Amino acid sequence: MALLKSLAARENDLSNPANQLKFLSNGIFKKGELPLFKDKIAETNHFPLKPKKLEILQLNLGYMCNQVCSHCHVDAGPDRKEIMTMETMEQCLEVIRNTGAHTLDLTGGAPEMNPNFRWFVEEASKAGIKDFIVRSNLTIILANKKYHDLPEFFKKHKVHVASSLPFYKRDKTDKQRGEGVFDKSIKALQMLNAVGYAQEGTGLKLDLVYNPSGAFLPTNQQALEQDFKVALKEDFNIDFNSLFAITNLPISRFLEYLIASENYEDYMYALVEAYNPVAVENVMCTNTISISWDGWLYDCDFNQMLGLKVDSKVQHIRDYNEDLLNDRNIIISQHCYGCTAGAGSSCQGTVTE
Ligand code: SF4
Ligand code: SF4
Repeated sequence: MALLKSLAARENDLSNPANQLKFLSNGIFKKGELPLFKDKIAETNHFPLKPKKLEILQLNLGYMCNQVCSHCHVDAGPDRKEIMTMETMEQCLEVIRNTGAHTLDLTGGAPEMNPNFRWFVEEASKAGIKDFIVRSNLTIILANKKYHDLPEFFKKHKVHVASSLPFYKRDKTDKQRGEGVFDKSIKALQMLNAVGYAQEGTGLKLDLVYNPSGAFLPTNQQALEQDFKVALKEDFNIDFNSLFAITNLPISRFLEYLIASENYEDYMYALVEAYNPVAVENVMCTNTISISWDGWLYDCDFNQMLGLKVDSKVQHIRDYNEDLLNDRNIIISQHCYGCTAGAGSSCQGTVTE
């Protein structure tokens, strides 16, 4: 294990995406010890990985966040300054008006902290997208008086709220997301329920996003959803629609955690062991384009964090061309094993159930 740590250190700064990628590709494994993801998917003729019909545009409105979660793959936090400008938002709106995609997915950081967030939601909701998701960390609603009316604002624009909640118990949630996060999240969920979210007949959708609090893979999504539903209803009278179980990918803060806790090798072996060729069919990058705060295009949020722009003539939102993008090869590497383990994993939860 000392070898592992020194190798990681030798790669210099793992907060640098290029170093992370190098570490993931060569890392500590001897040649052949851990199969390359590209060879694995080639066994079922999925290499090169190609996109299918574009369904989801995922926009990262900035890396600023009121939390600093230990497993955050965005490395978000209060001191991050990267924020999508109004000019880039205007370019995104132009694409939203003309895209064939039916879902718009706003993420961050805390997307609500972008100063133009409300203006953008108002404009984008006029564009006729079918499903309009905002990924809220929940605590933002209570972080400052100016955010207290977010539930009403979401309701007004029929926003589909997808909220992170690592567990239905205080200790595990606070361990991963910080002291006091659980209680604030519960209060925010109650506020969302109070305006009609997850209540019959309102059409207001409230989903929860679960990710494991350590170096292990999520268990069955349906069983987890049932456990969450029973516990949250009994303990706090909270309702929600669905639960998305997401696998932690070995990048950013979670990669650092895996190395520091000496779990990196075992975790990678666990991902490879759980490789599911059926999940490859539906990995998120096959129906999604991810757009960064500064307008660059990526196959997914994870590739965005690793600095891997789309392999296409079109790489920026200002030059957006759906036909050209649909013709690209998706860039893959060893982190992709996180999307194909077990029932598969994406921002919408499992991909095979
Ligand atoms: S709330 Fe989300 S974006 Fe913010 S630090 Fe936690 S995981 Fe990252
Ligand atoms: S990490 Fe991104 S590129 Fe790799 S399989 Fe997952 S969604 Fe696709």
